[in-house]
Amino acid sequence: MSLVNEFERPIIIAGPCSAETEEQVMETAMQLKAGGKTSMFRAGIWKPRTRPNSFEGIGEVGLNWLVNAGKASGLKTTTEVANAKHVELALKAGVDTLWIGARTTVNPFTVQEIADALEGSNIPVLIKNPVNPDLQLWLGAFERFEKAGLNDLTAIHRGFSVYNHVKYRNVPSWEIPIALKEKRPNTPVICDPSHITGNRTLLHEVSQKALDLNFEGLMLEVHPDPDNAWSDAAQQVTPQGLNEILDTLILRSHEVSSDVASLINVVRTKVGDLDDRIFDLLSERMKLSEEVGRLKRENNITILQQEHWRHIINHRLDTSGEHHLTRKFVRKLMDAIHQESIRHQTAVMNPQGKKGDE
Ligand code: PEP
Ligand code: MN
Repeated sequence: MSLVNEFERPIIIAGPCSAETEEQVMETAMQLKAGGKTSMFRAGIWKPRTRPNSFEGIGEVGLNWLVNAGKASGLKTTTEVANAKHVELALKAGVDTLWIGARTTVNPFTVQEIADALEGSNIPVLIKNPVNPDLQLWLGAFERFEKAGLNDLTAIHRGFSVYNHVKYRNVPSWEIPIALKEKRPNTPVICDPSHITGNRTLLHEVSQKALDLNFEGLMLEVHPDPDNAWSDAAQQVTPQGLNEILDTLILRSHEVSSDVASLINVVRTKVGDLDDRIFDLLSERMKLSEEVGRLKRENNITILQQEHWRHIINHRLDTSGEHHLTRKFVRKLMDAIHQESIRHQTAVMNPQGKKGDE
């Protein structure tokens, strides 16, 4: 059984971004224990910071603070390891669980180095998604640990790096952890709203979304004095703040009773019928595209008529509100339809050439 499966859902991993002082580590762990909702205590010992000259972690000395705080509170402990030396020191100190940071998952050499260093131990490992939205890299990290004989693996979704996003520090792109669940249905997935939001005011909303998507738990950064934290101050909350968030989250069941299931099924059937119609219409639409393609071929004109396309897309975007659809969705949908239409027209205009499938 995996470590996270020992805990009641949702599993809460909480603790400071960084271990700063022995007192801060102990105080946070004891307050979290007293709060009664935390399963595992986190503290970063080595901090991968984007820019130099910021606090890069207290280092080795903090390992004993973490392990002692774990013993005193009875909470399992976890810290980030980013190279073989970290692994050796963390294992020697007796940390219960290790996590792989987003800047490590991105690098197969480092993941392999850590997996090799862990070979023969059966310590649970939490694997954060890579900083870039690449499902394959994330899956690859799981495979490297499995090949080294580590089977107690959990995913942590901490969002993906983008340039100057208006809302998030790291965009959640929920479709990626959902795709990971599809590929690895038995791997627990925990959400890290602290690093997704970068901002404590958004923690509740992102945590609720993760629970509604049936994530197994949450990793949240907690500090006794968040505004004066040495790293990630804006996203940390006090132990009391954590409980306020957790107390107001709604836990929905993923089990569906049979009468609710039949109510849902009635609506699902209607949805299925509508989807059938949408696909019939799309297929009819592509036949019309082919007709247009034939006319273009006969008159020797290009497939792409920029002005016409701009007119179509603008009209759809301008009327997205009337259909209660976001502009982003309309843009994606219209781009996909347009690409498919071009493919159909290309096949008609160049029948001897490759049909193309993109
Ligand atoms: C952290 O958990 O403090 C951390 C550095 O996370 P990430 O690897 O997600 O940036
Ligand atoms: Mn942090």
